[in-house]
Amino acid sequence: MNIDVCHQPGLLPVERARSQLLEAVTPLRETEILPLENACGRVLAEPVRAQLDLPPCDNSAMDGYALCGECETFTLVGKSLAGHPYAGAIGPGECIRITTGAPLPEGADRVVMQENTALQGETLTLQQLPAAGEHIRRRGEDVRAGQSLLEPGRLIRITDIALLAAAGIERVTTVRKLRAALLSVGDELRPLNTPATELKTGDIYDSNRIALKAALTQLDFDIVDLGCLPDDPEAIRAAFIRARESADIVITSGGVSVGEADFTRRVLEELGQLEMWRLAIKPGKPFAFGRLPRDESGNAGEALFFGLPGNPVSALVTLYQLVLPVLEKVRGVDDTQRAANFQSRARLLNPIRKVPGRTDYQRGFTYRDGDGLQVVESTGLQGSHILSGFSQANCFIVLPRDGGNCDTGDWVTIEPFQKPLV
Ligand code: AMP
Ligand code: MG
Repeated sequence: MNIDVCHQPGLLPVERARSQLLEAVTPLRETEILPLENACGRVLAEPVRAQLDLPPCDNSAMDGYALCGECETFTLVGKSLAGHPYAGAIGPGECIRITTGAPLPEGADRVVMQENTALQGETLTLQQLPAAGEHIRRRGEDVRAGQSLLEPGRLIRITDIALLAAAGIERVTTVRKLRAALLSVGDELRPLNTPATELKTGDIYDSNRIALKAALTQLDFDIVDLGCLPDDPEAIRAAFIRARESADIVITSGGVSVGEADFTRRVLEELGQLEMWRLAIKPGKPFAFGRLPRDESGNAGEALFFGLPGNPVSALVTLYQLVLPVLEKVRGVDDTQRAANFQSRARLLNPIRKVPGRTDYQRGFTYRDGDGLQVVESTGLQGSHILSGFSQANCFIVLPRDGGNCDTGDWVTIEPFQKPLV
């Protein structure tokens, strides 16, 4: 099945590429039960229901006194401390000392803050009588027993962990970890442990593999690191065969362009299928997508294949804009939590050069100015090799495909970086 292999000048628009990619993949069904504390960043596979009301009983929101009725003064008859409830009920004109979170005794209908009272012996006088119900946290006002707390597809966050822990949920059923095989292709690439003094003219560090590995680790993938390979079809073929056997996803960088040493795509076509290549995106035009069947028969399943361009900014931009939404769908993340969804508008602080024809993801820095206006400035040089500007940026300035240059003061679309770019 060929989705859309396009050739110059008809580059596939980014939005179409993204939606075609999303249609081309299906969510993983396999699950894994995890202790709650290890579930942050994982995707929930089964709904979670509350086993109890939260709060579990009416309790005090303040340190002070729990009162019964509307009286001038109250008689102190006992105390309820967090962990040590008052045994019994109180009647009209009675009060007990109470601390924050301590259960409210039967009969108590309001709480007064300690700061607004005076106690003499057993007699409590108030500066002002609180309204009925004041400073009381009601049983079940946060969560009701049996209520759904989180639904499948939820990308579990720390706030969710707090909620589930409060509800007594010890373990959750999550989508199992995805396994990604990573490799870089290029005769010029050297591993990071090569001393700089040993680099030959034209050699560069294999930065993509490290950045991609860090990004996917942050997204909780298992990584099969296949290292950096020379521009040699035999070596690439051998690595693809290893990758397809174990990985759900194969991500390469380099060698997908039209240069004479660009073998990645050709080997993919030999062992599997190329389904998409060359997009109207800047940076990142040579992006490729396809499938690698696990064996010759094609009956043993397949690995999804993403061929990222070698230029380091292009590799991360295409990872973020195209690969990530697909991986999120495969992991079962519900649409509303997709990382690349969060666009807003900001006012440009400098002119921007842009040639119509491709959607441009320029790197910018956005903030609120002294008047509270959201503004954005370019981080300078925008070449696909300029990593310092990418590092300084906190957002993409998304410039539509058919648009041209922008001026200072124009309103532009921005996309503040989300995980795993931050
Ligand atoms: P390619 O996509 O192979 O044509 O590479 C385009 C540019 O990206 C070249 O300047 C490469 O040296 C550079 N490049 C390719 N792979 C990597 C990598 N893994 N890390 C850093 N730069 C790379
Ligand atoms: Mg190359």
